[in-house]
Amino acid sequence: MSELPAAIDVREVGPRDGLQNEAPIPTEAKVELLEGLSDTGVRRIEAVSFVRPSAIPQMADAEQVWASIRRRPHVSYSALVPNLRGASRALAAGFAEIEAVVSASDTHNRANVNRSTAQSLDDIAALLAAAHGIGAHCQVIVSTAWGCPYEGDVAIRRVLDVAGRAVADGADGVSFGDTTGMATPGRVTALVGAFRAAFPDTALNLHFHNTRGTGLANVLAALQLGVTDFDASVGGLGGCPYAPGASGNIATEELVYMVEDMGVRTGIDLPALIEVAARAERAVGHQLPSQVLRAGPRTRRSPLPASLRGNRS
Ligand code: ZN
Repeated sequence: MSELPAAIDVREVGPRDGLQNEAPIPTEAKVELLEGLSDTGVRRIEAVSFVRPSAIPQMADAEQVWASIRRRPHVSYSALVPNLRGASRALAAGFAEIEAVVSASDTHNRANVNRSTAQSLDDIAALLAAAHGIGAHCQVIVSTAWGCPYEGDVAIRRVLDVAGRAVADGADGVSFGDTTGMATPGRVTALVGAFRAAFPDTALNLHFHNTRGTGLANVLAALQLGVTDFDASVGGLGGCPYAPGASGNIATEELVYMVEDMGVRTGIDLPALIEVAARAERAVGHQLPSQVLRAGPRTRRSPLPASLRGNRS
């Protein structure tokens, strides 16, 4: 495993992608979650999204949440926006990092924001100019990068075209989102390899959902190609709107647990993160899918049952 990166930079997306796919929780619970996460050592947190409250009521209090948290200087907080209007709200609220999202699948993009992928890319060009005009950074997230719930597989050529337009317009990085959990390690290797060949100088972040159980395998495939930026959600918060009952994002503590044991540093305190995951589970009121939350770190020891003591001869 010596060819793996020495360290990765995890972006915690539980407060946004996770909570967006859960029943709404009170503002105070969101603030508590964000503050708990801020003290785990994680350096990037996607805190909120600025979307139409009628479309996503879970994020209706974005401004309030953002204004209420005690921000930690070592954490870079970001907001996700679907369009220029959302970007204006995020920038007005004081975010210096935003993520604009566009779907590689035209059908998915129309279902989400009622416009074609090309129209969204035009809007994102204006959004990038607005962000850069006040010194903010903007990553462009290409969602449904490994498949669409309506169109099925999305061709690599198409994903690269969408990403390429964003890069040409000045995106400060690209993230590929496996919105529907359709990625497998071979598909990760193919898309990341093609992206790297086409855009060797553009920062790449990856966002996997564990819908079909291949989330961490996908991470390992990407690590072997030198990718160092990954999204994950505490406890595996969230879900998949196209597969009721399915898992959400890869769980942050499972990601940290796996890579740290392979010698890849994250800067995140695993026991502290597990504690936050347990609190997140209580906040949403149902069991979260994270296996590491259930089992704890691999070095956790159990007390020897009394019936076995002294029977070692
Ligand atoms: Zn997602």
